[in-house]
Amino acid sequence: MSVSFRLQSRLPNVGTTIFTVMSKLATDVNAINLSQGFPDFDCDPALVEAVAKHMRDGRNQYAPMQGVLGLREAIAAKYELFHGRRYDPGSEVTVTSGGTEAIFDAVTAVAGPGDEVIVLEPCYDCYVPAIELSGARPVVVSLKLPHYGVDWDAVRTAITPRTRVLIINTPQNPTGAIFTSEDILQLKALVRGTDILIVSDEVYEQIIFDGAQHEGMARHPELAERSFIIGSFGKTYHVTGWKVGYAVAPAALSAEFRKVHQFVTFSTSTPVQYALAEMMAHPERLRELGPFYQAKRDRFLRLMEGSRFRPLPCRGSYFQLMDYSAITDQTDAEFAVRLTREYGVASIPTSPFLYGSSAPRVLRFCFAKKDETLQAAAERLARV
Ligand code: PMP
Repeated sequence: MSVSFRLQSRLPNVGTTIFTVMSKLATDVNAINLSQGFPDFDCDPALVEAVAKHMRDGRNQYAPMQGVLGLREAIAAKYELFHGRRYDPGSEVTVTSGGTEAIFDAVTAVAGPGDEVIVLEPCYDCYVPAIELSGARPVVVSLKLPHYGVDWDAVRTAITPRTRVLIINTPQNPTGAIFTSEDILQLKALVRGTDILIVSDEVYEQIIFDGAQHEGMARHPELAERSFIIGSFGKTYHVTGWKVGYAVAPAALSAEFRKVHQFVTFSTSTPVQYALAEMMAHPERLRELGPFYQAKRDRFLRLMEGSRFRPLPCRGSYFQLMDYSAITDQTDAEFAVRLTREYGVASIPTSPFLYGSSAPRVLRFCFAKKDETLQAAAERLARV
């Protein structure tokens, strides 16, 4: 049906996200789904019980706008334990409906028409639309192949008097790259003496491998003072469908953030927040997540050893990039579709995470899956 009025899209270049497309294709052709980033195993049953209990106890009305106090206290305690920085639960911690909402709120709170926001591609796909909706201009800097390191000289060149925000992501989706202490030195030098703010997407902070340390902004006072740090409980407790995340930021930044949050969602599911606060009473258990996923990464890599896919280094997150240039010249989108249809394994191409540069011949596989899922997928991939 055609519309009889003029409809001007605010996001003319945006279609259905690649995650929806590939997950639907996986379902349609009954493929093993290593595309979208979610576990195929269940969360701790105690968490489900806790939500049910809080529902039965009548915690079913609006939560406070900034989040349930117990959960904000638990988030603050986690930052103190892991990163040695004390955030005030009253004025510096805000619970949101997923990390995605927190990213949108942070960008919208501080960037607007006339501003520029730098992103490092390939980047998670919600950054650029959030920037565009804010009215600011996305400025895209490419990560350096083959290992997707940050090209700090290129970032420096991209900075102008209009640069308002730099969005970073460590551990990184889709590449599995992480920031090193050298990156932190470069970042400090880059922003020192400027008004540039940082939106630091750290939703995979606990999923880090091979003894590496998460170089989050909270560890570095000079960076923390200008940063919104984004987290997501979906990743840490295997509940991506609950969509609960948060932002921590100094009080002045959090105040602006909350102005947006209160009119985007106002607040987030109450019983779920109470349940998460109970889980967070044991923050030391979060240390188990890195080894848990490292074992899955290593299993997947071992299983793939005989295949013609070549793994790229994965130092964090639950994504493994695989170079397929020994197999075909097809583009990543074409090959991802063919792999799903003909071999029954769904993955994600990196092209939807790219804005300027052309996509290398790599695909992203999510290994947040049961061992038998990884085994079955690898058997199929070995036939390619
Ligand atoms: N940032 C990154 C890098 C992600 O991978 C994701 C989820 N895939 C998010 C943010 C969003 O988190 P949430 O599901 O809590 O909105």
